[in-house]
Parts: sequence; C-alpha cells; structure tokens
Amino acid sequence: MNELIAVVEDEDDIRALVCAGLARERFRVREYPDGRGFLASLRVEKPDLVVLDVMLPDTDGFAICRALRADRANAGLPVIMLTARAEEADRVLGLELGADDYVVKPFSPKELAARVKAVLRRSAPAAASSQIDVGQGLRIDTDMREAYLDEQRIELTQAEYRILQLLASRPGWVFSREKILDHLWGDEKNVTDRSVDVHVKHLRDKLGTGGRLILNVRGIGYKLSLADASRKGTGAP
Ligand code: CA
Repeated sequence: MNELIAVVEDEDDIRALVCAGLARERFRVREYPDGRGFLASLRVEKPDLVVLDVMLPDTDGFAICRALRADRANAGLPVIMLTARAEEADRVLGLELGADDYVVKPFSPKELAARVKAVLRRSAPAAASSQIDVGQGLRIDTDMREAYLDEQRIELTQAEYRILQLLASRPGWVFSREKILDHLWGDEKNVTDRSVDVHVKHLRDKLGTGGRLILNVRGIGYKLSLADASRKGTGAP
C-alpha cells in the first residue's frame, strides 16, 4: 500500500512522530504545519486521507473539516482528527462535521496507523456484490432492496429498509437523527426526529436477534455496531 497521507499538525515533535509512524507502515506522507498550506496543497495533489489536528495556529481542524465537506472536489476525502481533548462534545462535533474517525492524544503511532488503515479500508469503493452481510444472521440485498434474517425475508417498510441500509453502509459510524431524516426524506422532510425512533423501534422488532446490532447513541442518533452487539447486546434505549 502506498496511499498518500497528509498530516496537518503544528507541533513539530508530534508531526514528526505521526509521519515516521505512517512511513514505517509504507504510506507516503506529506506534512503541513498549518491549515492554509494544507488547503492550498489540495489544488496540486490530493491525498488519500488526511490526519488533521484540531488545534492549529491559523484555523482549527473543525473548520478545515467543514470546508472539505462543503467542497465537492474534496467532500469524500477521509479525515481522521487528532484531538487533545477527550470530551464527548469534541468527538461528536468532529464526527458531525464529517470526520471519519478521531484519535485522542496521547496516542501511539501504531494505533494511529491502525486507524488510518481501517478508515482507508472503509472508504474504499464498495465491492460489486449487492450483498451486505451485516452479522447475526442478517443480510441485505441492495439490488432487491430486501433484508434477510437467517435467509428468511423480513417484511420491511421503505423507511425501515432505508434506515437499515444507511446504518449498514458504515458500521460503527454514528448517524444523527437529522442525517437519518435527510436520508429518508431529503428536502421533503416534514416529520419530527422522533419519527426516526419509531421507525428504528419497528426495525429492531422485525430484525429479532439482529435488532441488537442497532445501537442508540444517547442524544445523537444510531449506529450499527457489530462488535458491541455480539458482545453484550446492549443499546436499546
Ligand atoms: Ca496542534
């Protein structure tokens, strides 16, 4: 693998550590001590992923993330935020702005490299197969727009199917109620965000044991979590 990783971090020692760790994993690396230089570089060479510090001298990582997502040419660029602050609010803000993952300082270069690989894997174009094996006996056929539990077709409404497909498109990713509503209705949204809870409740009921895969993230929305669900089966609101 020789993907190009951009590292945006003003602290020289941390930037050096991150770059060395990524180079050791055979990534190509470009480093930027500030946000402006990084944004300017996108016009010349686009990286495969950016490791983005929150605290920068000229701007902050959240603003850069927002700018990337608002720019059609770079909206799909995977972002991993580095944050010194472990506060939930910061992590949520990063994810809401479209970051793919975050790593809290202090972190080991190995841990960061593992996250980089995971995000690159996740953002790779989906395989030609229309089958998503969700786990717990649950399978989605995106061509037929149907879901199967232990090979038995489950009767889902359009809304329930679309929620399931959205969550399964990025396991572990937290989708806010607002995002789910957008996905369901787009601009014709005239329903309250509690209706998402109702759809999810029905969906969970219909999925039987697979319903435990859908986790409620308090105050935010929902995610599909394979590991959590198979391990403890919690997450019902
Ligand atoms: Ca910094």
